[in-house]
Amino acid sequence: MDIRFDGKRALVTGAGKGIGRDIVRLLTECGAAVVAISRTQSDLDSLKAEYGCQTILADIGKAEAARQAAEDAGPIDLLVNNAGIALLGPFLEATVADWDETMAVNLRAAFIISQVVAKGMVARGKGGAIVNVSSQAGIAALQDHAAYCASKAAMDHLTRVMALELGPHQIRVNAVNPTVILTPMGEMVWGDPAKGDPMRAKIPLGRFGYPRHVSEAVAYLLSDKSDMITGITMPIDGGYLVG
Ligand code: NAP
Repeated sequence: MDIRFDGKRALVTGAGKGIGRDIVRLLTECGAAVVAISRTQSDLDSLKAEYGCQTILADIGKAEAARQAAEDAGPIDLLVNNAGIALLGPFLEATVADWDETMAVNLRAAFIISQVVAKGMVARGKGGAIVNVSSQAGIAALQDHAAYCASKAAMDHLTRVMALELGPHQIRVNAVNPTVILTPMGEMVWGDPAKGDPMRAKIPLGRFGYPRHVSEAVAYLLSDKSDMITGITMPIDGGYLVG
């Protein structure tokens, strides 16, 4: 399947490392002009050097910074809300500060940036596509993941509401729900075999994913190959969610 985004402008949040960085790679290879948002300058410098993308330094956990970054990105046809953090611990010890930060980055930033980008799409009248990078944690409960799971479940439902309201403008909105993906975040959370091995054992395919497993699904959902698909939450989970 040949996916091309020539002439399209894409915005990717959390583009500095991991899944977001691989999405930048693939969208660039498919011909998109990519705008990358992240919060570490050295990551943005290397992204620019490798992929020639426009870069915006912003901590999108801050509401005004998220809005400004989306406005600075200019007209966007394809949006990937990928930035996310995982602040983990037992529910009984979880703090309000961690809850608020998780919601600000994982959920509120996607709301703010999507709103700015979708307003531009509506005004230009040519439609568009948005993919939210959620998680299997939005569907299945995971130990020590209270705020993270809640943020991703909310992102899944925000995806459905956006699909409902933006569909008439030919703006499609979908989510992907990966299992453990071997990125800096994936290694941080699951790298200890004492945690990782039992998780891997619950995945029917018996393995964790790589960033390309997510970026290839994202490219499909952004492309015209999926132009009848909106409002879905697509597991990329080796079957974790079947049982
Ligand atoms: P990662 O390796 O930690 O990379 C996340 C990237 O997002 C980093 O470049 C980070 O920048 C950036 N970022 C984080 N907070 C930001 C903020 N407030 N403003 C701007 N940029 C920010 O994470 P990942 O594993 O690639 O995860 C990407 C997405 O996939 C997340 O939404 C995550 O929840 C989801 N996901 C991951 C997995 C997994 O196992 N890896 C599984 C399911 C879903 P800094 O490094 O500078 O902080």
